[in-house]
Amino acid sequence: MSNEKRPFITKEQAEEIIKDIPTPFHIYDEAGIRRNCEAVKKAFAWNPGFREYFAVKANPNPYILKIMSEYDFGFDCSSEAELVLADAVGADGAHIMFSSNETPAREYAMAYNMGAIINLDDITHIDFLKDIIGDKFPETMSIRYNPGGVFDMGNGIMDNPGDAKYGMTTEQLYDAYAQLASHGVKKFGIHAFLASNTVTNDYYPVLAGQLFELAADIEKKTGCKFAFINLSGGVGVAYRPEQTSNDIMAIGEGVRKKYEEILVPAGMGDVAIYCEMGRFMSAPYGALVTRAIHAKHIYKEYIGVDACAVNLMRPAMYGAYHHITVLGKENAPADHVYDVVGALCENNDKFAIDRDLPEIVTGDILYIHDTGGHGYSMGYNYNGRLKSAEVLLTESGEAKLIRRAETLNDYFATLDGTEFAGKLLSK
Ligand SMILES: *Cc1c(COP(=O)(O)O)cnc(C)c1O
Repeated sequence: MSNEKRPFITKEQAEEIIKDIPTPFHIYDEAGIRRNCEAVKKAFAWNPGFREYFAVKANPNPYILKIMSEYDFGFDCSSEAELVLADAVGADGAHIMFSSNETPAREYAMAYNMGAIINLDDITHIDFLKDIIGDKFPETMSIRYNPGGVFDMGNGIMDNPGDAKYGMTTEQLYDAYAQLASHGVKKFGIHAFLASNTVTNDYYPVLAGQLFELAADIEKKTGCKFAFINLSGGVGVAYRPEQTSNDIMAIGEGVRKKYEEILVPAGMGDVAIYCEMGRFMSAPYGALVTRAIHAKHIYKEYIGVDACAVNLMRPAMYGAYHHITVLGKENAPADHVYDVVGALCENNDKFAIDRDLPEIVTGDILYIHDTGGHGYSMGYNYNGRLKSAEVLLTESGEAKLIRRAETLNDYFATLDGTEFAGKLLSK
């Protein structure tokens, strides 16, 4: 899979949009999202029960969720707001996976009342849930598994589930399924999320192999019948141009092989494969459009832009790489070195450090790639900076505002009713 970092809008298009919607804003590519949804369906078409539950946290905009729902996708939710969003775009219980952790009682109650599939994060949550819903457990329930130790794919890619707060131990798992069965649960699922942002076609197949073996053993020992196996998220995005993008067809085929090898001989050839991809479904189809407003020459060369970590937190939070294109200079030589920075009074507010870029002058429009997942959604309001607008570039090429930018009134709204409201909130 080639990974040319080519913007899905031109400079001219960006300038046209900016006339109505000032920078910074996130823009999403509807055609790209749809192409990818189709590819995912095709890659797993061999499994009749297959369903992707889009991880809402990656991009909680109802317009994006609505597109996903047209492919019969469900929604992976982990909070009240995410459940409300799934409901708002018409998802029924079977299309909602509630994979939360440290879950408040009222959110369990809400998920239960919506008929969502509840994916329990811990064995103690069985009793916690029982206190909320009594002895009327849902017919279908799922359990989140954490194998502990190190998850090694044998190709240098590893992650560390033993350090992760999620899921139940192997030992607890058997007990938990038996407990759920004693509460009347009839159909079971298993879920594990062992590595994040993997850029390899091996992650899902390796994970699937482990979960299939485990599920077959649990079914044999406890008699609990598996309805689905949920591979969760973790399929990553080639944020760097030198990386090779995941090939979803190869991933689907890798999972199919494990299925034929392990589940079919175990008499589990009717088990549905579920996944909860977030990043892979949306990140590459979004970009943060921002303008260079300052050029500063001190010990290093800085380009100051009108977006900041409030609009895209990943670089500040974990040093994540996001490719940057200067619109209109796509083919210019990258013969300058810049730190591209935002306005926060935090020195980690840097979209790029020592990045080779074409010469940037103030007024240039920068296109920060791959912000369609964990971009807007991670935003916050430090320094009183406001969250940006979101724009959908529709299939017909129209730039549709799908969320306006925050205003100061939004920022101060929670002071309404206090003695300062009159000074802070304008009518
Ligand atoms: C974050 C998350 C996902 C999505 O992960 P991606 O890496 O974005 O695909 C899926 N399931 C759960 C439970 C998550 O927390």
